[in-house]
Amino acid sequence: MSGPQLQVIGDPVLHSKSPLLHRAMLSMLGLDLPYTAHVVPKGGLPEYLAWAKAHQVIGFNATMPHKEDLIPLMDRLDEDATRIGAVNTVCLREGRFIGHNTDAGGCLAALVESGLWPRSQVVVLGAGGAAKAVALKLAASGAQRVWVCNRTVSKAQALADADPHRVLAAADFSPRTLAGLCAQAQLVVNCTNLGMAGCGQFQDFSFLDALPREAGVFDLIYHPTETRLLAQARARGLAVSNGLPMLVHQAVLALEYFLDRPLDRGSMARAATAALTGAAS
Ligand code: NAP
Repeated sequence: MSGPQLQVIGDPVLHSKSPLLHRAMLSMLGLDLPYTAHVVPKGGLPEYLAWAKAHQVIGFNATMPHKEDLIPLMDRLDEDATRIGAVNTVCLREGRFIGHNTDAGGCLAALVESGLWPRSQVVVLGAGGAAKAVALKLAASGAQRVWVCNRTVSKAQALADADPHRVLAAADFSPRTLAGLCAQAQLVVNCTNLGMAGCGQFQDFSFLDALPREAGVFDLIYHPTETRLLAQARARGLAVSNGLPMLVHQAVLALEYFLDRPLDRGSMARAATAALTGAAS
């Protein structure tokens, strides 16, 4: 392929929604810029980066297993990528690699758009890669307290210890603990795999009963579009959102970095969402 191009890399990567999202936005902008998916196995980043430089790749997105491995390979990192220790968007400018993390900003934008933010006390479920991006971003964006509740409490504690703002606090994942924390929370964000197609399921939703009536529940999962957690929250009259808006907004932010200019985020998000929901029907 000759001429500037964009890519997404990972392993597996062929299921990635990024080509669909970016092609829809590029088409809306009238830009003839190819965006393709490439399998890059773990350990293959140095070879890929050399290849990208030689083939006019002006930017790429990265998914598992590369987000953390990219950190030492970048010439520069933005604030979110530094804070989170993971990169999902890379720009190539004048031979230098600049690493960004748009998962964090994408989640915040989705919370703002859905009316679930600002929320003073937040319960984050999970302490994996996504929870790290979300919890540290919320802590840096004005949350008063973010409780990180995880099955493996040591991982929640390590995440809380990494917060320079001292807003994060670790807790376990028992129904009793969750109910106690939810009684003071305005937002619950599910960053575990529970409820995702093919994964496990919450055994107990009683913690939702403890939430104040005006609280919201945000689930990062978008497949299925409504998890049992969201259905249970909606049945209790709570405001809810699935993870599709986060997926869309992280892509909008990535495209702004790739093109090095601000975009009309609302119309970009609408184009990306239409492509996704059209593809799903
Ligand atoms: P990860 O690093 O593997 O973390 C998984 C988390 O789920 C861990 O905290 C793990 O707890 C917890 N967990 C797994 N099984 C559990 C169970 N049976 N009971 C209790 N906790 C359990 O995964 P990730 O990359 O953070 O992704 C998490 C979810 O976010 C996935 O569903 C992913 O699709 C979604 N996501 C969505 C977006 C978006 O744009 N909407 C972006 C990123 C991720 P332990 O630490 O105890 O194992």
